[in-house]
Amino acid sequence: MSRLRFKRNCVECNEEFIAKTMATTTIYCSLKCYKRNWRKQKKVNTVVIPKEKPIITKENLQNKHYLSVKEAVVFFEISENILRRKIKENKLNYVCLKNRFLFLKSDLARIL
Ligand SMILES: [Zn+2]
Repeated sequence: MSRLRFKRNCVECNEEFIAKTMATTTIYCSLKCYKRNWRKQKKVNTVVIPKEKPIITKENLQNKHYLSVKEAVVFFEISENILRRKIKENKLNYVCLKNRFLFLKSDLARIL
């Protein structure tokens, strides 16, 4: 019989304890900690995770040909005001779709 003991840190109280087996399932120092953690997990699981809003990143816009105002701001790192001024000055072609401005990416690149 091996007399080897395995030192572990309890995931609940973080106290060091001796696990009787090498099995990685032994992660609590005591039944008390196990129950406490289990209750916590249960609580966590019942929390409703809000639906993630699509995040606008440069990478996501890389393959798009048309950009909205918000997307153009992110992609070209410009302010919305500059963009709107360009529209007013008729320096930028755009498509108006359902009250949303869409710009051709190449048009934006040309004037910015
Ligand atoms: Zn513990």
